Amino acid sequence: MEPSASSTEGSEGGGGRAALKAFVSAGRGYWRDVSAEQWEDWRWQLKNRITTLAQLERLLPTLTPEERAGTQLANQKLALGITPYFFNLIDPADEFCPIRRQVIPRIEETVTAPWEMSDPCGEEAHSPVPGLVHRYPDRVLFLVTDRCASYCRYCTRSRMVSNATGYDFHPDFEQQIAYIRSHPEVRDVLLSGGDPLLLSDEKLDALLGALRAIPHVEFLRIGTRIPIFLPQRITSGLCNVLRRYHPLFISIHSNHPRELTLEARAALERLADAGIPLGNQSVLLRHVNDDPEIMRIHVQKLLMCRVRPYYLYQCDLIAGSSHLRTSVRRGLEIMRQLRGYTTGYAVPTYVIDAPGGGGKVPLTPEYVVSHTADRVLLRNYKGDLYEYPEAPDEVPRAASRRPQCEPQCV
Ligand code: SF4
Repeated sequence: MEPSASSTEGSEGGGGRAALKAFVSAGRGYWRDVSAEQWEDWRWQLKNRITTLAQLERLLPTLTPEERAGTQLANQKLALGITPYFFNLIDPADEFCPIRRQVIPRIEETVTAPWEMSDPCGEEAHSPVPGLVHRYPDRVLFLVTDRCASYCRYCTRSRMVSNATGYDFHPDFEQQIAYIRSHPEVRDVLLSGGDPLLLSDEKLDALLGALRAIPHVEFLRIGTRIPIFLPQRITSGLCNVLRRYHPLFISIHSNHPRELTLEARAALERLADAGIPLGNQSVLLRHVNDDPEIMRIHVQKLLMCRVRPYYLYQCDLIAGSSHLRTSVRRGLEIMRQLRGYTTGYAVPTYVIDAPGGGGKVPLTPEYVVSHTADRVLLRNYKGDLYEYPEAPDEVPRAASRRPQCEPQCV
C-alpha cells in the first residue's frame, strides 16, 4: 500500500510539491507603499487588520457570494480579522485557497448541525473560576485574553473569542493564580485564549513570573498562532522575556505548508534559539489539509522550522463548522500514509477532543490485527503481516532470574 498522490482539488493552492515545500515570502503585496519599518511593526499589523466587508471587497475582487454573505453576518458569531501579512498569503484566483478558507467567513457558518455546540469541549462545565479550565488531574488551561491576531473560522472558543457574541471575557489573573496556588496537584499550566502573545512583554513577564513563583508549578506552556498570523511579534525583547521562565514549551497552530513562510520560519527560529521546545497543533480541515501529500509536506516543513508536529485534531463540533469538517475515516487514512513513510518525529498524534468534555482520545490506524495469550499479529506500514511472541504478564521471580553476565567488549 503506497501513499496516494494528492487528491484534493485546489488544496495545493496552485503549487506543486516543490512549490509547497519551498519557504517563500509574499512580501508587502497590497501594502507595497508602506515602509519596511511599519510592515515589520507588529502593532502596525494589528492596527491595519482587515475587519470589514468593504475592505475585503476592495482587496479581494474575487469574493464569492457565499463569502460576502458570510462576512455580513460574521460579527454576530466570530469577528472578521486578518493581519495584512497573513492576507497576502491568500491566492485571490483560487476559491478553495487553503489560507482563504481558514479566515474568510462563509454563509455556511450560519448553519448549525444538531450535534454542533457553542462549547464543544465542555470547558464551561470544568471551569472552577472564570478563565480557568481544570479538566485533567495535574494541569490547567489558563485563558488570558479573548483577542487573536486573526480569527480562524473553526475556532473552538468562538463563543468567547473576539467577543462577537457579547461574552465579555475579562479575566481576573489574581483569581486564576490564587486557584492554582491553592491546588498543589497542578504542576502544568497552559496559557491560551485568544492569543497570549498579544499581551505586552511587560504583562507576559508579570504573569509568567507569578506562575513560576508557585512552587508546585513545574511546567509552563503557551498555545499561540502568532508565529503564523503575526511573525513580527516574535521580537528579541519577547524572546528575552520568555527565556527567563524555562521549562517553557510553546505549541503553535499551523495547518498548511503555505503558512510556513520565510517570515514564519525566522520567527520560529528565534523562539527555538531562546531554548523553547516547539510543537505544532493542526486541525484537520476540508479543502485545507485533508490530503496525505499536503499533510506530509506540512509536517516535514515543520521539522525544518524546528517544530515537532504534536497533535492533529479532528475538527471540534463547533456550531457552523460542518463545511470544514472531514471524516474520521479520512483522518485515519492520512495518518496511515504518514507513519512509516516519513520521519517518526514528523508524525503527530491524531485526536478527537471527546464532545462535551471527555478530553483527548487518540486515534490510530489498525496495526494490531489480533492479540492472543501467546502472540500478537501485526500489520506494518506497507500492509505486511508479522508475528511477535507474547510474553507472559506474570513471571515468578525465581523463574525469571537469569545468570548474571559481564558485559562483553567486542
Ligand atoms: S488563533 Fe486559536 S483562539 Fe484564535 S481564533 Fe484561531 S483557533 Fe481560535
